[in-house]
Amino acid sequence: MPRSLVNGDYSLVMAIESASRANSWYRVLADRQTGSLSCDCPAWTFRQDGVVTTRSCKHTRVAQLLVNAQGQVQRVGVPLERARGAAAETNLLVQATREQWPGLGGRWSIEQRTSSVDNQPYHFVLLHLTTGNGTAATGLVAFAQRFHTTPQSMIAGVAGWAGYAIAAEVARVAGFPLAGQPPEHFKVTRRTTPAEGTAGATRRRPRLGLGDILRVGDQIDLGDGYTPTQRAENTLRLFLGEELYAQLERQHFLDVSSVRYAPQQRVYRVRRDPAKQRDRRVRVFTRGRYVNDYCIVRGQDVPEADHWLSIFLSLISDEERAISVVQSYNIFPPHSDDYYQREEETIPAVWRAA
Ligand SMILES: [Zn+2]
Repeated sequence: MPRSLVNGDYSLVMAIESASRANSWYRVLADRQTGSLSCDCPAWTFRQDGVVTTRSCKHTRVAQLLVNAQGQVQRVGVPLERARGAAAETNLLVQATREQWPGLGGRWSIEQRTSSVDNQPYHFVLLHLTTGNGTAATGLVAFAQRFHTTPQSMIAGVAGWAGYAIAAEVARVAGFPLAGQPPEHFKVTRRTTPAEGTAGATRRRPRLGLGDILRVGDQIDLGDGYTPTQRAENTLRLFLGEELYAQLERQHFLDVSSVRYAPQQRVYRVRRDPAKQRDRRVRVFTRGRYVNDYCIVRGQDVPEADHWLSIFLSLISDEERAISVVQSYNIFPPHSDDYYQREEETIPAVWRAA
């Protein structure tokens, strides 16, 4: 990763495919403090002249044209399709994104346009989600047209990059700024992972990339040796980021502050089985007091990590819908699922305003 991008507070503005190498992606990132754009293409990263704020490349320049100062996407190029709500949900690319990021809830829209970048024809896909909780998030992907002539060929890029950017923004607004750091390149060279517990395990752990988590799209070689369970774990880990993932591993839950029940200072403690097998019930706290267990049933054949992420994403994106599936017979008194080995709460559940 270019030195300028390390440990920064960045959002992914656009992923743009290389005009010469299929499925090789550059990430245009915006510094959240200054709004200045950066890119990880050679042209941007190797230009050491001038200060970062004035550096540019053809990708940051097109991003500048497409995205205005308010972060809204402007109309450039030739429109191909525009759909929102129920119509958007029938779109293949929206469906794939929802499959890749289960739990994200709200009103989807999609817009597709063509335009040229540096005399090369490009196909832009803009996904937008207004969550039930009221967050507006977008993801923008630019495909080199010569490599992508069918909607099917764009599934992985859209579900991966645009879906990731949307999930990241939803998490950031919900109070998890560490989640959803822009992922590495689409294609990653796999290295062998040192065994857990060895000296190099943390230091030399290979960086996960989008290629390690995607499960949709025909561009993705699924013959990479990952089982669905490993892929789900990779997704959770890549999305949460090392720090938040380590917190989940250590305390076996993350707390989500309610938006809907803010006056009661409700907190959902989304728990995870240390053995990563069983489903654990969500503990509900009101003003710091543990009051109920919610049982959210896992769908068929879904790995445990996927189920956990799905509950987490649905609570931070569309709490109303997430809890509407919890019928009264799925609401239990405290300690309903730790009968044999009681798990007391030692860490306070503190409600925080979004
Ligand atoms: Zn660039």
